[in-house]
Amino acid sequence: MSIDYDEAFARSRDVPAFSNGTEGETWMANWCGRCLRDAPFRNGMVKTGCPLVLISLMQRTPAEWLDGPRDEHGRYSMADQYHCIEFRAPGDGGGEPRPRPEPPDMDGLFPRPARQVRMYVLPDPVRELEVAAP
Ligand code: SF4
Repeated sequence: MSIDYDEAFARSRDVPAFSNGTEGETWMANWCGRCLRDAPFRNGMVKTGCPLVLISLMQRTPAEWLDGPRDEHGRYSMADQYHCIEFRAPGDGGGEPRPRPEPPDMDGLFPRPARQVRMYVLPDPVRELEVAAP
């Protein structure tokens, strides 16, 4: 399924995704530069690329970009600053994620649940503290 620009823009955060161009270029080289969603644009087959990249160029942070790993001081690797949940790795066929097929001549142990709707809401730290307080 393609990403709708207007919907993605509406749910994005109004803060720049990167502190500077080096951060942005490093992250995009590691993620978007390998992603099948942007491959047709990278290869000159279509005129528009991934809408999430465009949103980040509008000084916003797509909701689909979740924070990557941080150390105890909050430091992160520029190449892994975010994890894009829409990333499609080379070799996974692009498009919609598909369930892994059952082995031939075998039935699955359990029925597969229907895919759930993805949640883009980030946790509210103040509410989390209120819930955790006795
Ligand atoms: S889906 Fe994510 S990783 Fe892929 S091109 Fe778009 S922003 Fe980059």
